[in-house]
Amino acid sequence: MTVEERANEPLSREGEAATLPDWRDEKWGLRVRLALFLVSQVGEGNTFTLAQLREAFPGHSEIGRRLRDLRPGGWGIEGPRDDRSLRPDEYRLVKIGSPVWEKAHRSDGLRMISASVRHQVLLRDGYRCAACGVLAGEPYAEDPTSQAHLTVQHITPIMHGGGTDASNLITLCSLCNVAVGSAPPVASAEEAWSRAVSLSPKDQARLLAWLIRGRREASPLESAASAIFRLPPGERAEILGRLADHLAQ
Ligand SMILES: [Zn+2]
Repeated sequence: MTVEERANEPLSREGEAATLPDWRDEKWGLRVRLALFLVSQVGEGNTFTLAQLREAFPGHSEIGRRLRDLRPGGWGIEGPRDDRSLRPDEYRLVKIGSPVWEKAHRSDGLRMISASVRHQVLLRDGYRCAACGVLAGEPYAEDPTSQAHLTVQHITPIMHGGGTDASNLITLCSLCNVAVGSAPPVASAEEAWSRAVSLSPKDQARLLAWLIRGRREASPLESAASAIFRLPPGERAEILGRLADHLAQ
């Protein structure tokens, strides 16, 4: 093929990749570098692990958060909670989103949740994951060495017209939100104590038992809800229908 012929060819996948900036170039922010890494090293439809990203971007503690920042920009990244065929640390690049390495798209889908709105949402949700019910800092029942980190997420993504007000935001733990979460905001010890003493004596006794055990003991209701919320969306919808029918009888 001559140079002229090549120039007239529609851009092939390799052609596009060749024009991409290098993901290793440290002049880019981590979010852009992650996007470039996913496009050039992973490719749409393929899987990667957080361990791979940590190896590619040593010294960056914000990998999970920056990865999550790509999702409102149209990047389809699924984790083991979306796709049960994935291993616990494994993710799949389902869809390449906005070309955030291009100046015009640099801030596409960037989260703009203010600290006060974030706090308001956490408070409203009781510092508890709205999906599985885990509390901030609480170990997961299935892995007592783990610790739940809560994140505030958009219900309707910004790219689909969702806003950044509390009504479109929800508290999710990092497991329920797929990517690794940020550190939970911590109440002051005095604030925590004033909440504890305002409980009924019965609840205070339960709280004491939980503190001695080192984790919250879920009520049968919470356990049932948690079990259902952790099902894939289709199975969850089926249970919803069955329960509605059951109650209508
Ligand atoms: Zn959760």
